[in-house]
Order: sequence, then structure tokens, then C-alpha cells
Amino acid sequence: MKLQRLQNDVAAWAEKQFPGQTALGKAAHLVRESRELHEAIQDQAVSGTTLEAGHDLEEMADCLILLLHLAKMRGYAATVLLEAGFVKLDECKSRTWPAQPDSDGVYHHLEPTTISDDKFFIEGKGIGEILDTLPSAEERRKIA
Ligand SMILES: [Mg+2]
Repeated sequence: MKLQRLQNDVAAWAEKQFPGQTALGKAAHLVRESRELHEAIQDQAVSGTTLEAGHDLEEMADCLILLLHLAKMRGYAATVLLEAGFVKLDECKSRTWPAQPDSDGVYHHLEPTTISDDKFFIEGKGIGEILDTLPSAEERRKIA
């Protein structure tokens, strides 16, 4: 299966290239790449211009390979991650959703938050708000 091969290949490369990187570091990198994806789409939405060809796809690929490697670091084969995705989708289908999104354009289910959902909320802030508090790519380049 191609997804499993991608996970194996990215893990073999990353573990050689970045020996000793922790799952926490990998998760932080995933947050940064998620922000880059958000910025790529936001730039298009604000400017009304066409995205640089494939830029959004490239950022999605960054997120995908980081997620696959992080899953492996946490002991989940790609096939397990994929199955978890189907399980989560079924859970989403069973929930009740608001008619309108929040100010970030996010729809969040109406049932009380469960333990698993706490992963997406920190001190009452949704993932969009959390991403907005992180330095942008341009700010990070100034710091580096
Ligand atoms: Mg990127």
C-alpha cells in the first residue's frame, strides 16, 4: 500500500537526517506546516488572486509526511492511522453541527467536548486561534 510505503520512506529518511528528534518536536513542526498551509490559503482568500501553482498542495504534502512520521514515532502504522481516520469520520457523521461556522470559518460539533476533543482545544482556544498566535513564516525568517 502506497501510504505505508510513504510512511516507511519518510521515517527512514527523517530518522537518518534528524537523529534524536522527539515526537514533541515533530508535532511542533506539524503545527508550523499547518500554519503555512493556512497562510497559503488565506493569502489567496484575502488577495483574490490565484495561488501559486501547487503551493497549497505542497503545504498539504508537508503536513502529510510529518503526520505519517509522527504516527510512526507514536507506534501507529499508516494503515492504523488510516483506519482511525475512518473511525473518526463515522464519529463526525453521528454528531450534530451548527448551521454557521465560527469567526475562523470553523464548524465545531454541538455536543459537550469529550476527552479526545481536548487535544484540539487549549484553554478554550480552537486550533485556528492557536495557529494565529504563532509567528508567521515571515516573522520566523526575521528571527532566524
Ligand atoms: Mg511548508
